[in-house]
Amino acid sequence: MIHVSLTNLLLLGMIVGLALLGCFWLYAVWKERRQEGRARQDLVSCRICGNIYENLSRSPMTACPQCGSLNEATKPKPI
Ligand SMILES: [Zn+2]
Repeated sequence: MIHVSLTNLLLLGMIVGLALLGCFWLYAVWKERRQEGRARQDLVSCRICGNIYENLSRSPMTACPQCGSLNEATKPKPI
């Protein structure tokens, strides 16, 4: 049988709890970034007026609904 003092047992429990909490936190951050990346995939930033709009046609060149200039469908820079 392994002899473990109460102090070591509590310390071990705290370490395991903190490790689990860290894993949940990392998973939540990863999930949030993935959702944000998916949401931003269809967004196009106009290089003339700065308007950010959704590219529903999925074509490489889209016209800005505000100023009418043609824009290449690239991801807008992160905020
Ligand atoms: Zn524009």
